[in-house]
Amino acid sequence: MSKEENLECSFCGRKKVETDLLIAGMDAHICDKCIEQAHGIVLDEIQDVATTATSTDLELKKPQDIKTFLETYIIGQDQTKKTMAVAVYNHYKRLLQKKSDDSPVEIEKSNMILVGETGTGKTLIAKTIARMLSVPFSIVDATVLTQAGYVGEDVESILSRLLQAADYDVEKAQRGIVFIDEIDKIARKGDNPSITRDVSGEGVQQALLKLLEGTVVNVAPKGGRKHPEQKFVEVDTKNILFIAGGAFSGIERNISARLNRQAVGYSAALSDDKIDEENLLQYVIPSDLKTFGLIPEIIGRLPVLSYMNPLDAKTLRAILTEPKNALIKQYTALFAMDGVTFSIDDKALDYIVEKALEYKLGARGLRSLCEAILTDAMFELPSSDQKEFHVNRKYAAGKLSNSTLKKLKAAS
Ligand code: ADP
Repeated sequence: MSKEENLECSFCGRKKVETDLLIAGMDAHICDKCIEQAHGIVLDEIQDVATTATSTDLELKKPQDIKTFLETYIIGQDQTKKTMAVAVYNHYKRLLQKKSDDSPVEIEKSNMILVGETGTGKTLIAKTIARMLSVPFSIVDATVLTQAGYVGEDVESILSRLLQAADYDVEKAQRGIVFIDEIDKIARKGDNPSITRDVSGEGVQQALLKLLEGTVVNVAPKGGRKHPEQKFVEVDTKNILFIAGGAFSGIERNISARLNRQAVGYSAALSDDKIDEENLLQYVIPSDLKTFGLIPEIIGRLPVLSYMNPLDAKTLRAILTEPKNALIKQYTALFAMDGVTFSIDDKALDYIVEKALEYKLGARGLRSLCEAILTDAMFELPSSDQKEFHVNRKYAAGKLSNSTLKKLKAAS
């Protein structure tokens, strides 16, 4: 027998001829079967560690670390990042306190409400927090809640989505984050409680109260395939973090009226504090939400209030290139997969931002603009020999005819 054939697996002793593959190490060999078996053991082990980690440990990041994490994905919105970091920190401190349970002080939930125009990053910030904490995350649209008649069903639907996101692990779902979008759409129209015409919005608000505060809800796990025997799952919402968001369009009028009233009363005190009329949202306080039509109980259960700044040219420009998964970085990676080096110059980026502002497309529009500019190249380059692709302002403008822009505007 040759020396080569004499080799055997140092783990199971199989001869080289009996294996499909024998890999040599420093002083030993391992065969394909042993590798597979070992791989299985590693996977099991990782799974075990992950399960134990999610059910017992919560990695409590400090507010500054939370903010730093948010910074890698979200441009600007400094105040909200800070407020959010503190609220999330306190929320998870509360969970840890519950475990030890010997403190006499009960820390209340720090559910949040974010006020800001659509497309300013409210969902993104909530999603990023969930990503950082590796907790399940789901988005629900408050407007859907008004459409269904039966209140219990609606409340449940919020949780079945979270349960789905948690892959039906109830324990995990109970520590998740729910983003309630368009909370402003369920506001009562007008500040007068005697207006009965618009009870539907208020009805939904009432239904949300318990959920926000903490209650046990029977949830039908959607996609019952996984739980055919199980009709309902009990989900306790007391440790679920709710983040509500809304554009509250027109709330500036309430804020401005309130500020003017205050200015009359305290004109001397306010005279050095110049009010930034361009961005009144930064002065929002809970009573403005009440004037807008949220019931005080809801406002009380969303105690952390923050605002989003409108996105100016500088921010939009940064959103294109700076976040960890910025659009331009994504396109660069896509082209690189075809061996094409993609570049775009500053003037072209400025042009995209100009058009996003001119046509009021917001941050979401940046993507449609990039698609419109780059689709032809993404279609043609994979089949060509071209290895470099540069976009300048002229190229970008050539791809964005007025009719394309109007179409984008209509679709936004
Ligand atoms: P909202 O929930 O306020 O309507 P989103 O969070 O859905 O807005 O934002 C829409 C998209 O715009 C996001 O997916 C993101 O790509 C981009 N975006 C918005 N604001 C920012 C920001 N401040 N930083 C980075 N990207 C942003």
